[in-house]
Amino acid sequence: MKIMVAVKRVVDYAVRIRVKPDKSGVETQNVKMSMNPFCEIALEEALKIKEAGLAKEVVAVTMGPANCVDTLRTGLAMGADRGIHVEAARELVPLTVAKVLKRLVEVENPGLLILGKQAIDDDCNQTGQMIAGLLGWPQGTFASKVVLDKEKQVATVDREVDGGLETICLDLPAVITTDLRLNQPRYATLPNIMKAKSKPIKKYTSEELNVEIKSDLEIVQVTEPPKRKAGVILSSVDELIDKLKNEAHVI
Ligand code: AMP
Repeated sequence: MKIMVAVKRVVDYAVRIRVKPDKSGVETQNVKMSMNPFCEIALEEALKIKEAGLAKEVVAVTMGPANCVDTLRTGLAMGADRGIHVEAARELVPLTVAKVLKRLVEVENPGLLILGKQAIDDDCNQTGQMIAGLLGWPQGTFASKVVLDKEKQVATVDREVDGGLETICLDLPAVITTDLRLNQPRYATLPNIMKAKSKPIKKYTSEELNVEIKSDLEIVQVTEPPKRKAGVILSSVDELIDKLKNEAHVI
C-alpha cells in the first residue's frame, strides 16, 4: 500500500506573527517558515505505518510557490520516499487544495491519505473533510490513534471529540486527519538530511492536473487583536469589591 501525506509550509509556530503594514495579510518576508506541525504528525504516522510493514511507500505532497520545496525536503529527510510539488504562485484555499489532491490521488492511487487536522496559518480545518467528500472516501478526522488491519483493509481510528474519544472503523482507501496527541514527530538526522537531497521530487503545474487555481474568498482586511491592558494589583478584597461595583459595574 502507498500512503500519501499532504504537508504545508507555514510560518513557524514559534514566530511572533506580524500583520503587513497594508493589512493585506500576515508578513512572511524574512520570517522562519516550517512544516505545519499537524503535517509533521501526519508524516510521522505514515512513516510508523511503513516501518510496521503495513505500507510500501510514503509520498509527501505540497502545493504552493517554489520555496515549498524546502518543506518537501524536510519531509524527505524525516523519511518520506519521494515528493510531489504542485506549483502555484499564490496561496491556495482548502477547496483548491482538495481538488488538486483529488487529481494526485487519481494519478498515484494511494490506499491512505493523511493530512493535518488544520494548518496553523489559516486554521481552516477544512481540507481533509473536503478531499474525503470529493473522493467519496470515509474519513477519520482528529485522529489520536490509528490501527491498520492490512488483511481486512480497515483502519480503526480513535477521534478526539468533545468530552472524550470516539472509535470508528474505516474501509480503505480512507482519509485521516491528525490531532496533536497522535504521535511525537521525529527530527530529521543530518545523514537523512543529506540523503533527502537525492530523493526524487516530481513537479506538476495546476494546468497539467487540470485544476483551476481560484478562490471565491476575498480577504478584506487582516488586523492584530487589540492589545490587552496591563493589570493592577489591589491591596484588599474591599478594594476589589469597590472596583467591581463602581468601575466594572458587574456586581
Ligand atoms: P486547512 O484545511 O487549511 O486547515 O489544512 C488542513 C491540512 O490540509 C493541512 O494540515 C495539510 O495536511 C493540508 N493542506 C492544506 N493546504 C495545503 C497545501 N498548500 N499543501 C499541502 N497540504 C496542504
